[in-house]
Amino acid sequence: MQLSDNKNTGEKIFDNSKHKETLLKEIMYHKFGISQDLIQLAAEIENDLNFQAKEKQIQQTTRYNQLKVLDAFRKAGITEYHLRETTGYGYGDAGREALDEIYANIFETETAIIRLQMVSGTHALTTALFGNLQAGEELICATGPPYDTLATIIGKGENPATGSLIDSGVLYQEAPLTSDGYPDHEKLGEMINSNTKMVLIQRSIGYTWRPALTISEIKKIINTVKTANSKIIVLVDNCYGEFVEELEPGAVGADLIAGSLIKNPGGGLAPCGGYIAGCEEYVQAASRRLIAPGIESGVGPTLGINRWFYHGLFLAPHIVGETLRGALFASHLFQKLGYEVLPQPQDKRGDIIQSIKLNNPKLLEKFCKAIQHCSPIDSNALPIFGYLPGYDYKIIMAAGTFVQGASLELTADAPLRTPYIVFLQGGLMYDHAQIAALSAAQALRDT
Ligand SMILES: *Cc1c(COP(=O)(O)O)cnc(C)c1O
Repeated sequence: MQLSDNKNTGEKIFDNSKHKETLLKEIMYHKFGISQDLIQLAAEIENDLNFQAKEKQIQQTTRYNQLKVLDAFRKAGITEYHLRETTGYGYGDAGREALDEIYANIFETETAIIRLQMVSGTHALTTALFGNLQAGEELICATGPPYDTLATIIGKGENPATGSLIDSGVLYQEAPLTSDGYPDHEKLGEMINSNTKMVLIQRSIGYTWRPALTISEIKKIINTVKTANSKIIVLVDNCYGEFVEELEPGAVGADLIAGSLIKNPGGGLAPCGGYIAGCEEYVQAASRRLIAPGIESGVGPTLGINRWFYHGLFLAPHIVGETLRGALFASHLFQKLGYEVLPQPQDKRGDIIQSIKLNNPKLLEKFCKAIQHCSPIDSNALPIFGYLPGYDYKIIMAAGTFVQGASLELTADAPLRTPYIVFLQGGLMYDHAQIAALSAAQALRDT
């Protein structure tokens, strides 16, 4: 490494005569402690034709989705006026109304509500579930155990949480996944009965070792449900899935879709929020639950947040593309280092998560510490295992994010249970995800 002292400031400066690429590598080498052979491995991965072919596919999807988003903005005729702030009731907030229209357009649904008054994805899903289910009616989850915070909302287990769906008299069944982690259509078909009001499909994997659902798999589940009874409401938990493919669940017949603005569609800029898109009747029912009967979606001050929602949504296809490239790199890297990864490099992706099986709790901690240490915020914080609301076991999370808990930004988390899988996701730009993955690889190696 050619470092020399800057005579004026005393700082170390790099010798500019060196080739730019070498310089870059050396910056990483020195500042992040990444060894030379890992840097070499990173270069090999990025030059791998399979890696490049996948990158190209990601770029094509990004391009398509960018067109879709831009088209929706144009159709809605967005002007600077739409970005203005409203307060109080938020009556006549043109920005709020046009954003609802844009989301409905992108998700190919009749209508949508995007609200900062919904804290995040969990709240949006809760609103959609409670708004459309009453005592005596049944919910079936078609994709095995649902995401942990949702399990609490449903009220699974011995002692359903007070105010949970089951506590409120809603019936619940869960269709198990097949042994290789796919939906079991036959079982699902058998479970559907005259009480079944709604079927929940979770697109992303949560903390499980299984492939995320692709849109074509979601379509198949919807067909199974609608064949049994066309009146059943299909709700898709779309968290982490938006813009990963060219179609969204609304295009293949989902009646309701809910998701988080601190994930994909917030584009890394939305400071909070959730969305619900779908058929007028079911979205209205959710609105009644969110606000009040008779008022529904006509109110909701945007408090100056609209601009972030618009700006974030505009960037979202690109940012999702960046996270997918980061996940692809990590998949190659950790597979080459001998770890089992899911998805594998060649697999089609249904969400933005990269799972890596580390087989050792100490390695989970090392991995998450390295990701945290490569974060723009709280880089010196030390993540440790602990209990969080809504989760039944200890969990470790690396999240040095600008928006608290926003996992479209680079984050890693891992429940403390065998086989000790770390779930890596996000990264507002590929370079950040790449550096952090190498740093985590180094940390595993320095054990
Ligand atoms: C993250 C997530 C949620 C919850 O979203 P938040 O914004 O964290 O509340 C729900 N379902 C799935 C599948 C998720 O990944």
